[in-house]
Amino acid sequence: MSSQHLNDIGHEPAVEGVCGESSPGRGYDCAVADCLFCKIIAGDIPAERVAESSRTLAFRDINPQAPTHVLVIPKDHYPDLGSLASSDAGLLAELALQAQQVAEAEGVAAGGYRVVFNTGAEAGQTVFHVHAHVLGGRRMAWPPG
Ligand code: AMP
Ligand code: ZN
Repeated sequence: MSSQHLNDIGHEPAVEGVCGESSPGRGYDCAVADCLFCKIIAGDIPAERVAESSRTLAFRDINPQAPTHVLVIPKDHYPDLGSLASSDAGLLAELALQAQQVAEAEGVAAGGYRVVFNTGAEAGQTVFHVHAHVLGGRRMAWPPG
């Protein structure tokens, strides 16, 4: 794809129609087969849900790295932060808001918490359905590992 097809943050727009019905401009507007987090959204795999909106879901990480470790995801499938940001900035803002609301509900907002989007394999992303890690309840080190 030539650079003129890239959007203003240099990212290829999300492909539409990857898995059937997709409304214009919504990117990956459907559950993707074999996506772990799409299966959690569908209820096919259990998760401890802590918050939900019409377009987002928050649930506890199965392998927590801090006393509070919650994942916040969009219900539509986007593989990573860049594809979400380039396709639906409003939905990205909804993730940020839900991360803050989860931190407040968990009692870690005042003391401080960390939001992490691992993006790409080298950064440690293992599930390619974009997710914000909301971590809190202990002092965080910097630089991250
Ligand atoms: P990442 O490595 O950034 O892609 O994060 C994926 C996260 O998903 C990891 O922290 C895993 O512990 C978490 N995870 C994997 N499977 C599940 C599951 N079934 N329920 C909740 N969290 C999960
Ligand atoms: Zn998915």
